[in-house]
Amino acid sequence: MALIVQKYGGTSVGDPQRIERVAEKVMACHDRGDQVVVVVSAMSGETDRLLALARAVARRPDPRELDVLLATGEQVTIALLSLALHKRGCPVRSYTGTQVQILTDSAFNKARIRAIDAERVRRDLAAGRVVVVAGFQGVDGEGYITTLGRGGSDTTAAALAAALKADECRIFTDVDGVYTTDPRVVPEARRLRRITFEEMLEMASLGSKVLQIRAVEFAGKYNVPLRVLSAFEDGEGTLITYEDPDMEGPLISGIAFSRDEAKLTIVGVPDEPGVAYRILGPIGEANVEVDMIVQNVGADSTTDFTFTVHRNDYEKALERLRDIAAELGARDVSGDPRIAKISLVGVGMRSHVGIAGRMFQTLAREGINIRMISTSEIKVSVVVDEKYLELGVRALHEAFALDRESMAEE
Ligand code: ADP
Ligand code: ASP
Ligand code: MG
Repeated sequence: MALIVQKYGGTSVGDPQRIERVAEKVMACHDRGDQVVVVVSAMSGETDRLLALARAVARRPDPRELDVLLATGEQVTIALLSLALHKRGCPVRSYTGTQVQILTDSAFNKARIRAIDAERVRRDLAAGRVVVVAGFQGVDGEGYITTLGRGGSDTTAAALAAALKADECRIFTDVDGVYTTDPRVVPEARRLRRITFEEMLEMASLGSKVLQIRAVEFAGKYNVPLRVLSAFEDGEGTLITYEDPDMEGPLISGIAFSRDEAKLTIVGVPDEPGVAYRILGPIGEANVEVDMIVQNVGADSTTDFTFTVHRNDYEKALERLRDIAAELGARDVSGDPRIAKISLVGVGMRSHVGIAGRMFQTLAREGINIRMISTSEIKVSVVVDEKYLELGVRALHEAFALDRESMAEE
């Protein structure tokens, strides 16, 4: 008997028929004798609909009240799925995040899970029940409802799997696994049979929305095997595991990209100690996360400083930067909210040189100008104008032959 956590995303529970199908799949697992905990998202489009409602009432909705609203989406689905299971004679109980006690910090809209009191879930499982838990939501120390950020149901599932020491956490979605890149952008993209936690962490943090980054962190930290599978067809999906030292991995595993980026530049700041801190300190205090940073050495005694932020934070960052420029006596401030980031990810990069060069050459051939570059041990990222995003991703996918299985993977 295994303990399995299953998670179904928005499309998989998008209408009553699909919920009935999920009920069948859950029943099949339960009938095999496994203990099953199911985490569900809101029905597809529901979270966006709720967000639009909030914005129709308030341009900048209060974060605490926004979470009270957003958490309702998942509450609908746990009830509907449990009704469908009841109808089939399956013993089941549904719980909201507050009822389970998924304890989070108080960062509304992007809360982090601190602890899970899984006692109640364990008792239900021991009594032979299926447990259905609302994804994406928790409760803070004050008893206030919190949500975990977009895609947060993945994290609920992985964190529950870790707390329950589950044998596997299965993420059922509308693709049949993790691909070399988003198959919606590159139809030739190929499903990976396995990918390491490390690579999946990079892919998720660099924009691949197939898994929320914190889900990968939880599963990696607590060593829970994580599998991404189709909710609609059978298959083995993609297993996310630790690197097998005996197996030489492919050079590049995938291409991640993100169009939610914006770039800001402050021109002609004095080139002296403490300047980076005086620019980025206030930006951080304004709760804006900075991603890439480039500082140029100017010919005179001034320097230009460019950094990227999430596009949602662009206006706020620009406002702050204007104040900072005035304080520092900088010459000018400029920005561009229409940029995108493309990243190549692969553990094989550690032992191979020349990946970055080939990447730049490929983009040059397509006439794509690179605005910024950043590298780390297993990734190379470039910032380009948003209009070149798809072209760049497709060209790189082809140049690195990602549509073909590498020798090492066979
Ligand atoms: P769910 O609602 O089930 O959580 P998501 O929309 O959050 O589903 O995630 C699945 C989507 O992720 C896919 O439809 C696909 O377009 C996108 N995606 C992005 N990058 C990848 C990738 N490397 N592999 C597979 N899917 C990806
Ligand atoms: N419903 C939330 C969202 O749309 C959480 C999730 O689906 O994972 O982002
Ligand atoms: Mg998702």
